Amino acid sequence: MSESHAGITGAGRVKDIRQSMQFKSGEGIAGIAYATGQLQYCRDCSQSREYLLNTQSGGELPGSLISAPIKMGDQVLGVLNASHPLPEYFEPWQQHTLSLFCSCLGQIVYNHRLMNDLEYVVERRTHELTKALQEADALRQRYERLSMIDELTGLKNRRYFFSEAEALLSRAIRHDQNCSMLLIDIDYFKLINDRWGHVVGDEVLVAIARVLEEEARGGDLVARVGGEEFVVMLAEAGTGGADLMAQRIQERLAHLETGRDLVGLNLTASIGITALTPDYDHEFSVSELLDQLYSQADRAMYDCKREGRNSRKCYLKD
Ligand code: GH3
Ligand code: MG
Ligand code: MG
Repeated sequence: MSESHAGITGAGRVKDIRQSMQFKSGEGIAGIAYATGQLQYCRDCSQSREYLLNTQSGGELPGSLISAPIKMGDQVLGVLNASHPLPEYFEPWQQHTLSLFCSCLGQIVYNHRLMNDLEYVVERRTHELTKALQEADALRQRYERLSMIDELTGLKNRRYFFSEAEALLSRAIRHDQNCSMLLIDIDYFKLINDRWGHVVGDEVLVAIARVLEEEARGGDLVARVGGEEFVVMLAEAGTGGADLMAQRIQERLAHLETGRDLVGLNLTASIGITALTPDYDHEFSVSELLDQLYSQADRAMYDCKREGRNSRKCYLKD
């Protein structure tokens, strides 16, 4: 349409690229087309009350104007305006063509919005899903960690100890190496809680754990297996090496640094020691051998208790 001017306007979602061409629903020719959903033909704009009421926008006064609603079904999505400087310019076939064009345009605009909405929904759902997966992964990691780490001291827990100690023992058997174990029970720990309270008791346990970690070597396994009971499995060390380590631990516990002034702490421990001997029961599984080592160390530790505490004992296989 040479010499005509066209623009899409309407109230609601469709924004005009030209501010001056915006109308509210029901106002002006375009607004009426939008509100009614019917094509509006203003044959002579200079005589039209509806048109003149909305000329505050300024610009040239057209002779004639068509406002065709862009629809999808009953929903009006916007309005397409076509104007010409001459009044009575548009003929019925032009109005009809514009109507057809607007109906195609409505379909296109509607599909486009639908796609955008779908993309938005998919994007939002993907974001939610990613977040949920991240949370699930963090939870899984936390539970995995909780299942093997003692929360108070950060040492490995009892469960982890028994599975890892088997691996350590297997390696020792396979490579014909020494392997020993210390079972450490703090003496009269209850009195520490009674005297300074549970919080201080916890701090003492944490300080003990640090000592054990510092005394252990790279291949050793340190775990908290009970309230105030710890175990150290020593790789490539026999009873001599194990006893030396037990002695060092006792010395360090006697001067334990907790960051508090605990006058009269006098921390001592009873330590049961054992080791794998060359005559171990070859028909035993690794798990059975580990149980055997653990109960030997346990017996040794309890005998320390029975005989007055603050000592070390080493029991080997009968
Ligand atoms: P024994 O010399 O016979 O080993 O005496 P004990 O007091 O060390 O042993 P007992 O088994 O009678 O008591 C263990 C104490 O350790 C009692 C319990 O409250 C304390 N305990 C266990 N776990 C924790 C803990 O996580 N934090 C604190 N603060 N205390 C704990
Ligand atoms: Mg105990
Ligand atoms: Mg104890």
